[in-house]
Amino acid sequence: MTLSDKPRILVVDDEPMNIELLQAYLQMDYEVISAYNGNEALDIVFRDIPDIVLLDVMMPGINGYQVCEQIKSSEKTQFIPVVLVTALSGREDRLRGIEAKADDFLTKPVDRLELKMRVKSLLRIKDLHDNLIKERDQAQNYLDVAAVMMLVLDMNGDIVLINKRGLEILGYREDEVLGKNLLGQFIPVESRHGMESHFFSSLDDISGNMEYYECPVVTKNEDHRIVSWYSKPLVDENNKVKGLLYSGQDITKRKKIEEKLKEHTRAMEASIDGMAIMDKRGVYTYVNDAYSRIFGYEGPHELVGKEWKILYEDPEIERFNNEIFPEFLFKGKWKGELLGKKKDGNSFFQELSMAVLDTGVISVVRDVSERKYVESKLNQYASQLKSSNELKDLFTDILRHDLLNPAGVVKGFTDMLLQEEADEKRKYKLQLIESNVSRLIEMIESAAKFSRLEDIDELEFKSMDLAGIIRNVAEDFEPQLKSKNIILDLKLDTSCPAILNPLIDGVFANFISNAIKYGPSDSTVTVDVKDIGHEWKIMVSDSGEGIPDKDKQLIFDRFKRLAEKKKAVKGSGLGLAIAKRIVELHGGMIGVEDNPTGKGSVFWATVKKA
Ligand code: ADP
Repeated sequence: MTLSDKPRILVVDDEPMNIELLQAYLQMDYEVISAYNGNEALDIVFRDIPDIVLLDVMMPGINGYQVCEQIKSSEKTQFIPVVLVTALSGREDRLRGIEAKADDFLTKPVDRLELKMRVKSLLRIKDLHDNLIKERDQAQNYLDVAAVMMLVLDMNGDIVLINKRGLEILGYREDEVLGKNLLGQFIPVESRHGMESHFFSSLDDISGNMEYYECPVVTKNEDHRIVSWYSKPLVDENNKVKGLLYSGQDITKRKKIEEKLKEHTRAMEASIDGMAIMDKRGVYTYVNDAYSRIFGYEGPHELVGKEWKILYEDPEIERFNNEIFPEFLFKGKWKGELLGKKKDGNSFFQELSMAVLDTGVISVVRDVSERKYVESKLNQYASQLKSSNELKDLFTDILRHDLLNPAGVVKGFTDMLLQEEADEKRKYKLQLIESNVSRLIEMIESAAKFSRLEDIDELEFKSMDLAGIIRNVAEDFEPQLKSKNIILDLKLDTSCPAILNPLIDGVFANFISNAIKYGPSDSTVTVDVKDIGHEWKIMVSDSGEGIPDKDKQLIFDRFKRLAEKKKAVKGSGLGLAIAKRIVELHGGMIGVEDNPTGKGSVFWATVKKA
């Protein structure tokens, strides 16, 4: 039916008159084409595929039977109905026609009505047949392009039929699969038992219900793919089960996604942070426990289906619209602090992060009220600390100016009176005043110095000669050395370049002064400078009473002057604390050890070489 919509009839006869007659009968309803001998007829049949052939039997050359046989033996043309038109009506001729697979017979002279009826009914049959073929092809197509794998198994579970998708999933060619046992070859051992019972229970169930089952298959390259199977028994016309139709969907990917999703959901459920997902309209589709709890709701059910706006007051909603959403839409995420509204109407500080999802927005909320509270406490504390520092500064100021000045006045006048005084008793009392006021001045000075040093974080350094500094310090102690008849033995190289601040001389002065103070008369104090790699180690040794181990750490701490020495010697108790601070600011170390000679101590400090 290519040229016109009318069915096409090929009329074959060696007698033009006969063709004309049939043409006259049929041309109203059909497109009639003609051939005058067998060969011509076959040419047209194979080329044009007519819808029906009216074929004269008795023709010169190849006769009608032979033409019919050829039409019927070709796959392409076998379904074209062939009507043998013959003057012969004998039984033999009929049998010969049937043998040639003719579909029908008409006897000459052809009756017009009969002809029309025969043609009509044959065309109807052909039509039905064509449709059937079309449907079959379509079904095969569906089967092949189906996203599901289809298998037909016989009663033993052997594969009788498999579609393209099935082969794709399994990774085999059709001939590698057909006739093989599904359970034995394509189901992993551990799942075989379960699949087998499913197979047999499906065979028994002829109710026609599809049964669902999940079971993996092993592919050609030993992969396991998870398949969700539906099975349906196949029955013959006597309702006898012949096999099983399995359709299976590869759900490996879906399963993995499901697993991931479950994992995420579990993590979200367990999270102490509130998490919620809302759709594009701003309606919550998922809310975890923490989220509802943070906003003071009994559970996620109270929030799912609700709009986000119920959780914020108007000013914050305005902030969302004017500030947060524009930035969020631009960047795809937003993080910041804002005020949330609890179910009971109370506000709380929250930290909110939002990120875009395919289906909407995920938001994570943390209640930071507590942190805010701690922060404000911390700020309060910091400002208190600041004011206490100011107090300390004030105190240091008072020490230096308001106490030192009057103390200096007292000392000056006491010295004057001492010089003028002749009376020994009064002189003794004045001396007591003098020594105590001197001690007071010394204490005020070192306390002020210490306080200053405490406030300093960094000193300025330059390269200086350590040996020269120590020599200068030593010179200042001539009077004290003489009065106790102590020899100061300086074991110094000609020069020891070091990274120093001028404050460092206070350390050596303190070491030497203490060695003289606490050392016995007529002894020797040694000052040693040792090269210890990147540093110089300065050691001041005396032969005094030494420091008990328990005090070795203590004497460097502020105001920890050793109790038992209090009366015997004078000192502010801050000298070593100041020394320690100065050495620390130099990045060095300080300490005391027992004098290896057996008596006294060795005070030492390290400084960096230049
Ligand atoms: P001060 O000497 O003014 O009391 P220091 O901080 O210099 O303060 O010393 C702290 C204490 O360490 C001293 O009171 C003293 O008891 C002890 N001390 C310091 N140097 C020596 C030393 N060379 N021998 C024995 N004891 C010492």
